[in-house]
Amino acid sequence: MARNIGSHYTAHRVLGRGGAGTVWLGEGPEGPVAIKVLREDLAADPDLAERFAHERHALLGLEHPHIVGVRELIIGGPDGRDIALVMDLVDGPDLRAHLRRERRLAPRDAVAITAGIASGLAVAHAAGIVHRDVKPENILLDTSATAAGPTALLTDFGVAKLIDEPRHGGKGGVVGTPDYLAPEIVEGLPPRAAVDIYALVTVLYELLAGFTPFGGGHPGAVLRRQVTETAAELPGIPRELWELIQQCLAKAPASRLRAAELASRLRELLPDLEGLPPLDIGDPEGHAEEPAPREERPAPVPAGAGRGPRPAVPLVRGAAPDSERATHTRMRVPDPDELAGGAHGTARSIRPVGQPRAGSARHGAAARRRRRLAVTAGVLAAGALGGWLLLSGGDGEEDGGRQGGTTGVESVVEDAGGGPVDGPADEDGGAGLAPAAP
Ligand code: ADP
Ligand code: MG
Repeated sequence: MARNIGSHYTAHRVLGRGGAGTVWLGEGPEGPVAIKVLREDLAADPDLAERFAHERHALLGLEHPHIVGVRELIIGGPDGRDIALVMDLVDGPDLRAHLRRERRLAPRDAVAITAGIASGLAVAHAAGIVHRDVKPENILLDTSATAAGPTALLTDFGVAKLIDEPRHGGKGGVVGTPDYLAPEIVEGLPPRAAVDIYALVTVLYELLAGFTPFGGGHPGAVLRRQVTETAAELPGIPRELWELIQQCLAKAPASRLRAAELASRLRELLPDLEGLPPLDIGDPEGHAEEPAPREERPAPVPAGAGRGPRPAVPLVRGAAPDSERATHTRMRVPDPDELAGGAHGTARSIRPVGQPRAGSARHGAAARRRRRLAVTAGVLAAGALGGWLLLSGGDGEEDGGRQGGTTGVESVVEDAGGGPVDGPADEDGGAGLAPAAP
C-alpha cells in the first residue's frame, strides 16, 4: 500500500529491512528513489530527530559516484517524529549478498570495488566526515551500469553513529561491527578517518579470502584479535596487493594509507590483476573449526561465505535482527585457544586447497607458544571484552551468552590501552559525522 512521506514522496513497496528501519521503493518529483524510514521506536526518541536535523548538511552534502546520495531528510509525521532519508535508488544487491553468492571474488573485481569506495571515502574524509561503519552490508552494487562490472556505492554515512549515540547523557555505544573495527576504537580512541581505511581493507581481504582476517567466535575475542594479531597472508595473493593490505591493516592508524592514496595505488594494480581467478584457498583453520556456540539467540541464519553461518544481532537495542549478516555477531564464551590468539600468532592459518592441515609437530610448538601467550592474551581479551560490554552499554540485550561480570572492567580497559597500539590517532578527518574542527 502506498504511503506518503513528507509532501513530495510516495513509498510504494518495501525493498528491504535493516537494523535501523525499512527501505522503500518510492517516487518523488525527480523519479524513483529509495526511502529509508527509521524504525518507529528509534524515531520516537526526541533527541534522535534533533541529531539528524543537526547533521543534515553533512548527510546531504556528500556527492560522489561511489557514494549513495542522500537527497532529502524528512522529519515530520503527525507528531513530528517520523524520520526518513530519501536516497538515490541503487539497482542491485549489496556486497554481502554478492559475496555470499560468489564466495570469493576475482582479485581484479575485489580491488576495483575497493578502489571505488576508497575514492568515495577520500571525498568524505576531505569534508571531515568519517563513515565509521564500512562493511559489505553498507556497500551497494549498481548492476544496471556497464560491461566493466557493477559500480560499488557506499551507503549509510553517519546513520549508525547518529542512531547509536547516547540517549540521555550516558556513554556512547560502540559503532561498528567487530570484524571491521579498527584497533584504536577497541582501545577507546576517537574514530578518525583511518578507521574507515582499516574497515575497507578488511572488506577487501574478505572479498579475496571469503572471510575476514580477525572474525569468528565471541565478539570479545574478535576485538582482542583486532588489537593483538596480524592478518594471515593469503596464499597466492600478488605481493604488491598483499603489501598494500598489510599497510592498511596496521595497528597504528598513522601507518595506514590515506583514502585517496589507497584508491590510486589499488587502481595501479588493476592491469596486473586482469584475468586472475579467485584465490584458491581453503577455509581458515582455527576459528572456522570452533565448536558451535553453546548459546545462540534465535535469528535468521544467512548462508555465510567461507565461515559458518552467523546469526544476526541487531546494532540497535531492541531492533529486529538484521536481514543481513551479523551486525554485532553472536556472543559466546571464548575457548582457551581463542584467548591464546590462534595457532601461529596470526589470526588464522590459511592453507591452499589440498595442502594438509597443520601437523602435530608444528601443533606441539604452537601449543607451547599458546600457553606462554595465554596469560597475557587472557588479560587483553578481558580488556577487549570489557571494553565491548562497557561501550555497548552492557545492557545484556545483545549477549545471550554473557558470562562473568563487568567488575573492574574500566581498569582492565586502561591496561589494554597500553598494548601494541599506541600510535597517535590520524589527524585527518573528523571525529564523526560533523565536519572536523578547523
Ligand atoms: P540498515 O543499514 O538500517 O540495516 P540497509 O541500509 O541495509 O538498512 O537497508 C536494508 C535493505 O534495503 C538493503 O539490504 C538493500 O537491499 C535495500 N536498500 C538500502 N538502501 C538502498 C538504496 N539506496 N537503493 C536500493 N536498495 C536499498
Ligand atoms: Mg546499512
